[in-house]
Amino acid sequence: MTNIDEIFQLLQERGHGSYFGEPVSQLEHALQCAHLAEQEGAAPSLVAAALLHDVGHLLHAEHEDVADAGKDMAHEVLGEEWLSARFGPEVTQPIKLHVAAKRYMCATDPAYLGKLSSASVQSLKLQGGPMTPAEVGAFESNKYAKDGVRLRRWDDLAKDPHLKVAELDHYRPVLIAVAWPDGVSSANAS
Ligand code: FE
Repeated sequence: MTNIDEIFQLLQERGHGSYFGEPVSQLEHALQCAHLAEQEGAAPSLVAAALLHDVGHLLHAEHEDVADAGKDMAHEVLGEEWLSARFGPEVTQPIKLHVAAKRYMCATDPAYLGKLSSASVQSLKLQGGPMTPAEVGAFESNKYAKDGVRLRRWDDLAKDPHLKVAELDHYRPVLIAVAWPDGVSSANAS
């Protein structure tokens, strides 16, 4: 079962690869994303989601040129499924939605598309491009849509090679506070 030590081990052992051509590592990206969430006063569950939103990438034994290879790995679904052994929907659903949130914002915020990095524009194509009006309506009806969009905005900003942020251990109490208690699985807690 996923526990917090196992999650931290994954981030520490596999988080040193570059974050898709951006000037930060996967671990730095996760820590910056959580830092931005905390700075904005987000709920602990959303700070946890920010920290863990890309664990799906680390679960794949794939390389950083996945987008170049023309494959969409659906890392947001993999991360959501893996984390659901330990966390409720207020953590896992914004993670699941953070890629759809990008497609949503590209469809609803004309300025947003112009601000995406070139790596992010490239992956957008693989992710299905901007949402159609029907997809926008369905997205907005999701209870976790707003949290998914907030997470996405931090995700897009968490690529600063000079930003100084807290270490991983700073978030241990946050994760403990929002995780299922020991011995409780998603099967009997949800
Ligand atoms: Fe990310």
